Amino acid sequence: MDDLKANGQGRRRFLGGLAGSVGLAGVPGLAAAATPGTVTKPGRDAYDVIVIGAGFAGLAASRDLAKSGLSVLLLEARNRIGGRTFTSAYQGKKIELGGTWIHWSQPHVWNEITRYGLNIEESPGAAAETVSWITAGKLKHGKAEPVWEKIAKAMERFCNVDGQGGRAVLPLAHDPLFRKDALARWDALSLQDRLDSLHLTREVRDLLSPQLGINCHNELGQAGFADMLRWWSLGDFDMGRMFDKLGRYKIREGMGELAARMRADCPCDVALSEPVASVTRFEDGHRVVTIKGAVYRASAVVMAVPLNVLQTITMTPALSTGKQTMANEGHTGRGTKCYIHIKQKVGNWMGMAPYPSPITLTWTEQQRDDGTLLVCFGPPGLLDITDEDAVQAALRTLLPKAEVLGVSGYQWDVDPYSRGTWCWYRPGQLTGGLQELRRAEHGVFMAGSDLAEGWRGFVDGALESGITAARDVRAYLKG
Ligand SMILES: Cc1cc2nc3c(=O)[nH]c(=O)nc-3n(C[C@H](O)[C@H](O)[C@H](O)COP(=O)(O)OP(=O)(O)OC[C@H]3O[C@@H](n4cnc5c(N)ncnc54)[C@H](O)[C@@H]3O)c2cc1C
Repeated sequence: MDDLKANGQGRRRFLGGLAGSVGLAGVPGLAAAATPGTVTKPGRDAYDVIVIGAGFAGLAASRDLAKSGLSVLLLEARNRIGGRTFTSAYQGKKIELGGTWIHWSQPHVWNEITRYGLNIEESPGAAAETVSWITAGKLKHGKAEPVWEKIAKAMERFCNVDGQGGRAVLPLAHDPLFRKDALARWDALSLQDRLDSLHLTREVRDLLSPQLGINCHNELGQAGFADMLRWWSLGDFDMGRMFDKLGRYKIREGMGELAARMRADCPCDVALSEPVASVTRFEDGHRVVTIKGAVYRASAVVMAVPLNVLQTITMTPALSTGKQTMANEGHTGRGTKCYIHIKQKVGNWMGMAPYPSPITLTWTEQQRDDGTLLVCFGPPGLLDITDEDAVQAALRTLLPKAEVLGVSGYQWDVDPYSRGTWCWYRPGQLTGGLQELRRAEHGVFMAGSDLAEGWRGFVDGALESGITAARDVRAYLKG
């Protein structure tokens, strides 16, 4: 499946989605390696290592392995690298259709930003001055500060499971299972269970629930509470600091540029538009077969595909039962992200609405001469981003006079190579499945943001897992 169009000409047109071909007119894919001519054809059929998936996990693994002198083939299903990040443009200005925000406290991504000399810039609405929110079915407007104070207090209460603000249960954010036994009790709960147990006022509940909804990108009943404790720990046990790390700063040159620089720094073969069908282990290594029928051999394989598509690759022998269970359950991240261009100038604004609103959280991403570009998030299945009237109707619940001029986005949940957005575990998965998911099996190494220890679900986690997989593969091949 090739990628999409995400353009911004014309009025009131949907400008994104899944398209059949990257050659469609007006596709300003700024994502790395969408340009013809940058694809390296495999030079042979046997390698030391084959890496499957050219998201940031696969790129980091390939680069580190190839730079240590091993022969590496990187096989990617799509016609571009970058995976669940995709830099595009809306009316000439960069937008990120997938992974966007990074922070200097995310060690692996910050290391890459430093290494390749990239810069950061701020999303204005992430530090909103005014907010609109829906509580008990009524729309309210106000200054952001007092509302944020309420949300911050509510989140503190939500995560205070131990009388120490969550610090006793998840003290080491990059080692989430450090106190596994203490965490397991909370891991049995969903976000909804925890919310229901707190007896919050209706307004506080209606303010907290959009924040939880965007985090798990699904209904709260599907999502594990333990992952909220993990984000809280990664966010220094503070709402403002956590939000800054999640949604405020992005790479000025775009995620696509980071991927392109990593690719350029990686002395390996890359084959794009080569979905892998199967991996089979033999006595002397592995055979990897693509859907087009190409066959490659390698001593070790790195699986750097999303958790939600892992079961689409036939493994012989089969992966362990624990891995299969995780793959079959999948993670909860399946909601929408889109950009909405409106005629009104709303300044640095944020809108919030509890489930089942189709737009859970939205904020100003660009203040423009001809209005405002909002970035919007919502749960799965409630907003058809290809239907501009539906988008306008949904937005009007928060901004009653909004006139939509254009919508742009990408449908990650129906893309067969992602089947979802960012990773958030279901109840029980963190303490029950993560360790097994990470375990290598006979020369097959697992990588990907969806199984990282630290910033799982983020670009930082993808890099962490790729670097770790490369280290483990080197040790395995030496051993
Ligand atoms: C809408 C959205 C918003 C996000 N926002 C943020 C954010 O603001 N900040 C942040 O840090 N993170 C964010 N994320 C999460 C982040 O983008 C991902 O966690 C990260 O990019 C995943 O990297 P990865 O390498 O693990 O997986 P992926 O990027 O998914 O890469 C896996 C690769 O495997 C390929 N593949 C799949 N099947 C096959 C096959 N059979 N054969 C060969 N290749 C295959 C895929 O095409 C893909 O290129 C967001 C994600 C989405 C979708």
